[in-house]
Amino acid sequence: MADSSCDDIAIIGAGIAGTYAAWRLRKQNKQITIYEFSNRVGGRMYTLHFPGIPDINIELGAMRYRPEEHKLLNDTILQLGLPIIDFPLGDGIHRDTRRYVRGVHLREDELGMDRLKTPFNLSAEEFKPVDELRWEMFRNNTDVLTTTVPDAIKQLHVKTRDGVAMYKQSIQSVKHKSISIEAQNYIEQTSPFRATETVTSASMNVMTSPPSTSSKRVSKTVATGMNSIPIALLREFLLTSSRHCLKLNNHLKAITKNGDDSYELYFETTETKKGRTRIQRFSCMTFTT
Ligand SMILES: Cc1cc2nc3c(=O)[nH]c(=O)nc-3n(C[C@H](O)[C@H](O)[C@H](O)COP(=O)(O)OP(=O)(O)OC[C@H]3O[C@@H](n4cnc5c(N)ncnc54)[C@H](O)[C@@H]3O)c2cc1C
Repeated sequence: MADSSCDDIAIIGAGIAGTYAAWRLRKQNKQITIYEFSNRVGGRMYTLHFPGIPDINIELGAMRYRPEEHKLLNDTILQLGLPIIDFPLGDGIHRDTRRYVRGVHLREDELGMDRLKTPFNLSAEEFKPVDELRWEMFRNNTDVLTTTVPDAIKQLHVKTRDGVAMYKQSIQSVKHKSISIEAQNYIEQTSPFRATETVTSASMNVMTSPPSTSSKRVSKTVATGMNSIPIALLREFLLTSSRHCLKLNNHLKAITKNGDDSYELYFETTETKKGRTRIQRFSCMTFTT
């Protein structure tokens, strides 16, 4: 089935990227349509609320950002007038974070500090908070302190004492060369947020400076939930022109280029049930040029 409408610009996906693009282009006097696979806006910015508790955001995707690093995002949130608040859990692991490790419940600031509560049989030299142990591992077993290249590229240049560059070995290999098996277990089993700790290139994990003791960097979030950002972008986009449009439950299947440099986009309709979106078995292919 052919859709007779003809877009000047088709944006695929109503996540933050798609809605931001639409928002930026909104005043260009073009017919712009956003096509979204699912039945909602936001993609991996997805905020839910428990019934009756609207003030607690349950972030299933993005939950926080750092204004000094994510300048464009911060500027956009300010322009949209969304309420920004601190996100205290966003900077590493908070001291009050509860852990359950090796059958023991303990607080973050007890780990590597309280001998009786820390369920790892570490030597006196290796018994310390995880980040301090990691830093000592790099400081004592690599040339991180004497490598003089700029910090931004240091991770690629640092070598272990045997002369092997970090990017040529896994982080497991570095740990194996440097610390006891129990200390390796300690780092891996207490680093749930560091998915890269076990299987990746060592260069991704090198610490180039000691762990920070002060929490000077405060992450931020949007009080109304992170998916308020794409929703607000979309609202302003749609309000700017009656020619702008959002089409949910449309899956871009294919694109072809015509001889006149226009494009045909082929969509399948999708269906969302209980939060899961699937392509309809007998869906129509529509196109827009
Ligand atoms: C658990 C988790 C935690 C995160 N935490 C943070 C965080 O704290 N801070 C942070 O900054 N970032 C975080 N991120 C990353 C952040 O959420 C993503 O980088 C960002 O949301 C990606 O936006 P996007 O628009 O590029 O893609 P998406 O959000 O994935 O949007 C893409 C959209 O395109 C649609 N789509 C895809 N293919 C098609 C097609 N063929 N046809 C039609 N539609 C299509 C999808 O359905 C989707 O809605 C996190 C991500 C996850 C998953």
